[in-house]
Amino acid sequence: MPLSPFELHRVGTVAEAGALLDEHADDAAIYAGGTELLLLLKLGFASYGHLVDVKPIDELRRLEILEDRLVIGAAVTHRVLERSELVRAGWPDLARMEGEVANVRVRSTGSLGGNLAFADPHSDPATFLLASGAVVELGRAQTRRRLGIDAFVLGPYETALAPGEVLCAIEVPRLPEGTGMTHLRLAFHERPAATVSAWVRVADGRVAEARLAVGSVGVRPVLVGGVDEALNGQSPGAFEPSALAAIGAMAAEAAEPVTDADGSADYKEALVRTLAARALRQAAMTASARAEALA
Ligand SMILES: Cc1cc2nc3c(=O)[nH]c(=O)nc-3n(C[C@H](O)[C@H](O)[C@H](O)COP(=O)(O)OP(=O)(O)OC[C@H]3O[C@@H](n4cnc5c(N)ncnc54)[C@H](O)[C@@H]3O)c2cc1C
Repeated sequence: MPLSPFELHRVGTVAEAGALLDEHADDAAIYAGGTELLLLLKLGFASYGHLVDVKPIDELRRLEILEDRLVIGAAVTHRVLERSELVRAGWPDLARMEGEVANVRVRSTGSLGGNLAFADPHSDPATFLLASGAVVELGRAQTRRRLGIDAFVLGPYETALAPGEVLCAIEVPRLPEGTGMTHLRLAFHERPAATVSAWVRVADGRVAEARLAVGSVGVRPVLVGGVDEALNGQSPGAFEPSALAAIGAMAAEAAEPVTDADGSADYKEALVRTLAARALRQAAMTASARAEALA
């Protein structure tokens, strides 16, 4: 299907973008890499008379460390995050996860902000960033507000972005000493069928803190409650099978898998149990190795 005509506005500030979005309301959309948006337009699922290209906005192209966090402008592409020396040195688990998103063509054009703002349930970064404790910064004119990923991604293709608001940046906290993250995924089609991200901190040879996020199997990514309590004090190389079984059951329940083209809800529950145990073990081993390297 040919694209319907639209006017492309290249803007230099968040305030300019917001003014255009306010002026054209439902007839305008933000355009970053276009990997999702242009597909929607080509398939005739959406139509806009005005696209607001936010890539020229400096604020949205930042990639810098501020105190203890990495600040990623929303228009920074997956490929830049995968390859950046800054990210690979300080946030290696994030760089690795980004290298697994889609294919090199999509990663070279698609932005992290576009992935989160689109809120496709089959997202790698949303699951990973939830486990990371990341925060998004939303902007309108000179005003900025910050939200955790759980408060930002509300459901399938639904976020907390207000009309006229722009996703400006994503802030990822630096991992504390002795912490490892593992992101596991399974994909049968272009986007992942299941994503699991584990965050584990080891101190004095024992698990001191643990988090687990599960996504892509249900309508939105979720943090699994009770993981910290179940693993606290355990040896990273030898988790008790009963603890992992309990976490697997909690994860499968929290994720609320749905039946779709990737498989039945029952099948996805089984996937989540397996991936959760594997991700937690791997993250714990990474954390342990990092803690030992510091000793
Ligand atoms: C073939 C294919 C395979 C894929 N595989 C994967 C995968 O394995 N894992 C995965 O996680 N993802 C996958 N994706 C999704 C991919 O990550 C996204 O398409 C990409 O990140 C979107 O970024 P973009 O800059 O192109 O967004 P765009 O297409 O430009 O925008 C997407 C949506 O977000 C809005 N938007 C964009 N930027 C902002 C902003 N700064 N503020 C507010 N709203 C904004 C737009 O209005 C639009 O609604 C795949 C996509 C394709 C096409």
